[in-house]
Amino acid sequence: MPSAPAPRLRADVSGLPRYVPGRAAPSDLVDKLSSNENPYPPLQSVIASMGEELGRVNRYPDAKSSELIAELSASLAVPPEHLVPGTGSLGVIKDLLCAAVGEGDEVLFAWRSFEAYPTLVWAAGATPVQIPLRDERHDLEAMADAVTDRTRMIIVCNPNNPTSTAVHRGELERFLDRVPDDVLVVLDEAYREFVDDTDVPDGIELYRDRPNVAVLRTFSKAYGLARLRVGYAVAHPTVAAALRACSLPFGVSGLAQAAARASLKAEPELLERVRTLVAERTRVTDALRAAGWSVPDSQANFVWLRLGSRTQAFAVACEAAGVMVRPFGDEGVRITIGTPEQNDRLLKIAGDWRM
Ligand SMILES: *Cc1c(COP(=O)(O)O)cnc(C)c1O
Repeated sequence: MPSAPAPRLRADVSGLPRYVPGRAAPSDLVDKLSSNENPYPPLQSVIASMGEELGRVNRYPDAKSSELIAELSASLAVPPEHLVPGTGSLGVIKDLLCAAVGEGDEVLFAWRSFEAYPTLVWAAGATPVQIPLRDERHDLEAMADAVTDRTRMIIVCNPNNPTSTAVHRGELERFLDRVPDDVLVVLDEAYREFVDDTDVPDGIELYRDRPNVAVLRTFSKAYGLARLRVGYAVAHPTVAAALRACSLPFGVSGLAQAAARASLKAEPELLERVRTLVAERTRVTDALRAAGWSVPDSQANFVWLRLGSRTQAFAVACEAAGVMVRPFGDEGVRITIGTPEQNDRLLKIAGDWRM
């Protein structure tokens, strides 16, 4: 049979970098500390809210997520017009790129940072500009220096995935003062609830008098709804309207809306779990340091070990002992904080590992 002509696609699409998700755990017996998930199962009240929704899956969900927006608006003290939900904060980043960038535009972010950024920026047809971290932290001065007339968006991941460090209020404000008003700055705060350093600013305070700042939050991490895909942006009306125009209709499912609303209602209980994880983060960090490891101060639900050429070997050793961690090339390993028992198993492996 003669081969049919291939459909014409974007010339660069086959060369796009792929997002490599953490692998699935080979069995339930493995401790999965590789994807920054919340180790605790959903609350009964959250499951019940989804149970009611199951009987309605023949119907489309509320396309505007009106009730979720109204409740978020009250809890964050921001106007509902400033809130735009999406299919996880990943979906919202994609929509923001769609709204703000095109062919030839530059999007700045730190590197190493969240693995999905390069892929999403390329997919939007724009050019990623990666500014190396300095001591595992964003180098905001270098990022401001790298702004050109083609820069349309800057992403600041605070705290940074995978290195766990956070930028402080003073340096972030100085940076925002330097960035031109017509460049959108996206503060990706996927781990905001795990921050306990009062010098780390709350993006929602910073965005209030800065129309070029948008804040991203998610229900995936602290609220434990990763599989449902719901996150949102907080942005001034011009940005929020453009974002809505670019978002996938019905992108946030009815199940996700119901679970997110039930989670807001159960916030005290969920934030108690977050406090447990934060206390575990301190315990894990201290124990690793006591065993001779160098560990940056984490403000997220994971810790970072810069292992260089020993990265893969350590990940393999962990997996052989039943714990999955996340290796990044020959740079380092990111380890999610799990339950105390899971963390104990990780600490045992790390303690036995000969550096
Ligand atoms: C996990 C993560 C996200 C993705 O969150 P979803 O809401 O599940 O899409 C976004 N940004 C960073 C930095 C993350 O680590």
